[in-house]
Amino acid sequence: MPKEYTPEDLVAIWEEFLGGQERRHQVSAIADLYPDVRSINIDFSEVEKFDPDLANYTLVNPSMSIKSAEDAMKRMVSHALTNPFVHFRIMGLPRDSRIEVRKLRAKHLGTFVSVEGLVRKATEVRPRVTVAEFECARCGHKMTIEQEGMLFHEPLECSKEEGGCGRGPGSTKFRLLSDPSKFVDTQKIETQEPPEGLRGGAQPERLVGYIEDDLAGRISPGDRLILNGILKSQQKGGQTKSTLFEISLDINSIEFEEHEYEEILITPEDELKIREFADSSDAFERIIGSISPTIYGYDQEKEALALQLFGGVQKTMDDGTRIRGDIHIALIGDPGTAKSQILRYMAQLAPRGIYTSGKASSAAGLTAAAVKDEFGEGRWTLEAGALVIADKGLACIDELDKMNDQDRSAIHESLEQGTISVAKAGITATLQSRCAVLGAANPKYGRFDDSKNIAEQIDLPPALLSRFDAIFTMTDRPEAKQDHNVAEHILKVHQRGEIRLHESPEKLTHVNVEEIMRDTAHLVPAMDKEFLRKYVAYSKRITPVMGSEAMQTLEGYYVGIRKLGEDQGASVPITARQLEALIRMSEASARARLSQIVSSEDSQRAIKIVQYYLGKVASEGGKLDIDLIATGTSRSQREQIYVLRSLIQQMSDPRRGVNQDDLMQKAASENIPAEKAKSLLKRLSESGEIYSPQPGYWKLASEERIA
Ligand code: ADP
Ligand code: MG
Repeated sequence: MPKEYTPEDLVAIWEEFLGGQERRHQVSAIADLYPDVRSINIDFSEVEKFDPDLANYTLVNPSMSIKSAEDAMKRMVSHALTNPFVHFRIMGLPRDSRIEVRKLRAKHLGTFVSVEGLVRKATEVRPRVTVAEFECARCGHKMTIEQEGMLFHEPLECSKEEGGCGRGPGSTKFRLLSDPSKFVDTQKIETQEPPEGLRGGAQPERLVGYIEDDLAGRISPGDRLILNGILKSQQKGGQTKSTLFEISLDINSIEFEEHEYEEILITPEDELKIREFADSSDAFERIIGSISPTIYGYDQEKEALALQLFGGVQKTMDDGTRIRGDIHIALIGDPGTAKSQILRYMAQLAPRGIYTSGKASSAAGLTAAAVKDEFGEGRWTLEAGALVIADKGLACIDELDKMNDQDRSAIHESLEQGTISVAKAGITATLQSRCAVLGAANPKYGRFDDSKNIAEQIDLPPALLSRFDAIFTMTDRPEAKQDHNVAEHILKVHQRGEIRLHESPEKLTHVNVEEIMRDTAHLVPAMDKEFLRKYVAYSKRITPVMGSEAMQTLEGYYVGIRKLGEDQGASVPITARQLEALIRMSEASARARLSQIVSSEDSQRAIKIVQYYLGKVASEGGKLDIDLIATGTSRSQREQIYVLRSLIQQMSDPRRGVNQDDLMQKAASENIPAEKAKSLLKRLSESGEIYSPQPGYWKLASEERIA
């Protein structure tokens, strides 16, 4: 049975507690430094040590207990301050009080609970009136009304007993005097369960919390916190009241989670197993074998995805420049090429992984938004999008091509700097989004057209595309051998899946269960998922450093390829961006082996991947041309555009311009096929360089430019 206390007892006990050796200086700090210091932070274990009964009482009756502690504080500083506004904050609640949001129940109402959460929304900090001074407009009598909760209370009448005129609101007005009234800063936040605690794609549940006074304004969306507070209820419904109640948390204290991978517990035994695994000669192959084994093929892609899991090294240079270590990968492919399947798998595998679609439904979308809605009760609310929520994790974004304009402009910053800035309606905030991005998109017209250049069919702006360290295209063309393999693989996946559902599969008679299970053993991930997650989390503690052989390998490759671009008229094959991608992937490869040093083999692995993808997306006529990605226009296209523009200029009639058919004919004689010429004309007109003075005719927008 929990012990009961009278309010006087409580204040006395707390006074004794606060008067103790370790706490006394905290109280005197308030007396000396008020109002700059007005909170005392106490670890729950201290209270427990002092008086277990008091500690238990506080968990069950936090409002009463904390208020008494604050009264005790006030009494102790009364020699220096009159009626100060102080706070008693308790953190480090026992494990039993740590409740998941989805498990909060009626029995928790009014008790002290500790909730782990990811801040999704936070309003601006605005004052709330706590003690309102009123003046009667008729007689000038002044009244004080304490304000509790969110509803504003006005005087019912100008009280005669207190010397007023006795008029009610019908015959007089009560003016609020803001100067003598007292205000406190408040902030409303919404947290959601951290994604890694969720299993099986469950939607995270949310909890609203209120922060007051000196704690307000200290957190921003995307923060991971432990919130300690009192669970409160509010009645739902407006005019007609409902019997249903909403819950919210009156936050008493906040603990920030420092370490990105602390959610994943690694025991000393785990560490031993992890080390052992890293030392095995086929470690990397087994990691790749654990990535979507049910998906057939895509060996290079899976290798890159494995590197992405481990990531490169993020550096901060002497001058403060930050160089990202996150590896971004884009998968662009025909429908039904398992893109979504892979994304979902990776989101589950990666620590802090999330899966979302570019067509996000929330206002915050992929990045972040400042919105003024019901939640903020008149204040602006900053809401974190997927990339902020995945901070220090992996954001798997499906249908990247369908994102909204706001995301389109904000996503670059996230990819390169790992931050998202919001500047709207006086709110300026920078949120952290240091995550690797795995994006998927369909080609421009839904499916790749063999006859056209692949890069032209990618429907992402070049500025965005060129920030990906690897861009894989996945085409799906009927091809007998491949089709046979994929079909066989998929059929086996399903057959194995069916057999797995049987409790005693050995009783099945029409199939050879043993053989099938043996045959499909490769569908079992080479590492169990939990172990791989631990392995990845552990690997982040390693910071490999580039070895001299690795540096030579990378430099040799880069300089060698760039040389191909030196010839007159040749395209630029790769740029420094690819070199950085190579470095990141090499580091990731070393990390995957838990190696402190990046070896030549690590860089070779990176080169193989970059060479592979560039060959598919950034080559024209067998030559690499990075401009296909970096600017969206290949060198040969630029030449053709130049030719077309000259033709338009030469052939133009000053008034009517040039007839399209004549132009096409001439272009054909310059080796620009009609189809090509048409699409280039469309591009030129879209960019405003040419226009159509009348149907079927074209004119240059500005004649001088091509002198
Ligand atoms: P996308 O997102 O590319 O349109 P999905 O991920 O929805 O494609 O894939 C469609 C289905 O086809 C999935 O169930 C997936 O498992 C299957 N599939 C496609 N390609 C393969 C493959 N290479 N191996 C195994 N299954 C595949
Ligand atoms: Mg899909």
